[in-house]
Amino acid sequence: MSKAPLKQFDTLIQMMSAFPDEQSAIDHFTAIRWKRGAFCPLCGAARVYHFSDKRTHKCGDCRKRFSIKVGTIFEDSKVELRKWMMAIWLITSHKKGIASTQLAKDIGVTQKTAWFMLHRLRHAAQAKSFSRPLIGEIEADETFIGGKEKNKHRWQRTGGKQGGAGKVPVLGVLERGGELRTGTTPNLAARTVQHVIRDHVAPGAALMTDEHGAFVGLGRDYHHHRVNHSAGEYVRQFCIHTNGIESVWALFKRQIIGTHHWLSPKHLNRYLGEMTWRFNARESGEGERGNALLAQTAGRLTYKALIA
Ligand SMILES: [Zn+2]
Repeated sequence: MSKAPLKQFDTLIQMMSAFPDEQSAIDHFTAIRWKRGAFCPLCGAARVYHFSDKRTHKCGDCRKRFSIKVGTIFEDSKVELRKWMMAIWLITSHKKGIASTQLAKDIGVTQKTAWFMLHRLRHAAQAKSFSRPLIGEIEADETFIGGKEKNKHRWQRTGGKQGGAGKVPVLGVLERGGELRTGTTPNLAARTVQHVIRDHVAPGAALMTDEHGAFVGLGRDYHHHRVNHSAGEYVRQFCIHTNGIESVWALFKRQIIGTHHWLSPKHLNRYLGEMTWRFNARESGEGERGNALLAQTAGRLTYKALIA
């Protein structure tokens, strides 16, 4: 494998000229996936032979043949990698994401294919594990995400007595100047909420929340400041507020309304993962973002698993 520097691109047009054909896209992905050297995706062995077609490889240990796509979200995809690259560009650079109907038109695939592609990219974007506790000033907040009944397809409507029905509770923890983490939660009971916060936030951190009862008791482990929204107390002191995490929810809700119109609670964590990934990559350049998402495409998401 040659060790040419990784291609960077700051505009869509630069990316398109960086990948004039399918082989150039495959070479680029190969350079990213095997950054630390070639390995077999089936058994992990480092002894790998490369065929002259520049697309087929063979493991020296398990003797199996494979392409660079095996064991990634691209495995079994008939869509060429160049189109995947374009989809990655669009999903990483558009602040409110992209709808499958739009992606289908933009890259010339069916809507069903575009939908599946976007979910596989969300699957890649979803944080698989968290390596460190958040520190410093932390904003934690709860919200409900759920579409209005009238925006759903008729067969998806549950009918009658709505109110809170169909809405999914979501928790977010934002490290000021650092990382955002979000996810759905089965409920907003104190036990559940505090377990999540203690899981993600280092003891001793300054924790900003609203007055929701679920946060009561966190003062034992954190410098806990509660902002009383109902009393109109949005910013008590200049640093005691939850405006950061609240603007994250506002952005996410605009994405749902403006781009997707409605989304299934079943897939909500994937959409949250996509938004969170973009938020955490906000300081990176466009090309860097695309390469960063490409670097975490290991792990498959089959259609069967997606619709299950
Ligand atoms: Zn092998």
